[in-house]
Parts: sequence; structure tokens; C-alpha cells
Amino acid sequence: MRAQIYLRVAMNDKFIIPLNGLAAGKNEFFWQADREFFNSFENAEILDAQLDTDVIVEKSGRYIGVDCDVRGTVTVECDRCLDELDMPVDVEIRLSVKYGMEENSEEPQPGEREVIFIPDTDAEFDMSQIIYDYVCLSLPMQRVHDEGECNPEAMKYYGCPIEIEVSEDEDVANPFATLKDLFK
Ligand SMILES: [Zn+2]
Repeated sequence: MRAQIYLRVAMNDKFIIPLNGLAAGKNEFFWQADREFFNSFENAEILDAQLDTDVIVEKSGRYIGVDCDVRGTVTVECDRCLDELDMPVDVEIRLSVKYGMEENSEEPQPGEREVIFIPDTDAEFDMSQIIYDYVCLSLPMQRVHDEGECNPEAMKYYGCPIEIEVSEDEDVANPFATLKDLFK
């Protein structure tokens, strides 16, 4: 089936910028990174992912600028209760792609584009490793649920007591308390 073949080609082209086919000016790409994407890097820490990747590639002469925004959530394991924990991701990748041998480039300063060197012969630029690295680096070292949101069963099991805070003004927060007063 012709349609299926095209679909497969489109899937293979995920995270690939076709440098040869780029029109001068701005070219836009949209990809989604999911569980499969992180599995392909054999990453066991990221259990699931729903990430939208918006890319604008600007070509002007030999200059190729890549603006890539990655937004969504990844699911990791909570360090405290080992339950699943969704972490927001909001990463901006700003690259300047250059042809030629890699020069001794310095680390980009804040606000500067990271310079990526690719061989003259490369017809395409695979963004997957870069997207993967940026997302992983954006995640905090400590990954825990907000206070009180850990799985209480798991916490019991792992022997970490959960402090249950009893608020003194609970009656005020409870709408039924007010109703109760009305019927007195
Ligand atoms: Zn937790």
C-alpha cells in the first residue's frame, strides 16, 4: 500500500533536518518524543514521555540556525516513594550548524548559540541525540513528589513515616462545617 510506505518514511524522518532540501528562509518541523524515543537510548530512568518538539530552521547562505523548543512532561520514578512522577519539561535549544571540521570552540555563553560542526558531505542533521541530551540535562537531580503527594502505601512499605498535617482551621475550610452551623 502506497500510503503505508509514505507513513513509514515520515516516521524514519523524525528528528532529521534534511539539510540538502532546505529552502532559504525559515523551515518548520514538528515532532513528538515519546516513551519509544527514550527507550531507543536505553534510558531506564525515563519511564514515559509526552514531548512536543517545535523546530524552526533558518537557512541563509551557509548559515543554518536551529531554534528547537521541547515542551511537555516526562515520567520518572520518585526518589522517595518510587511511584511514578510527572516532571514538566520546557527546554530551548539554540544551535548554529556549521559545515567543516570541528574547531576548538568554547562553551557557549548564556544567550549564545551552541555551535555544531558537521561534515561537508552530510545531507541531513539528526537532532535526536541533542534533544535527548538537553532533556536529560534539564531534569533536576532530585526527583520527588511535592510534600504530601507521595504514595502513602509505598511510604509505609519503605519505612518512611508520612507526616499528616492536621490543619487547625480545618473546620473553616470544610463547607459542611458552615452548613452544620446553619442548622443549629
Ligand atoms: Zn513520591
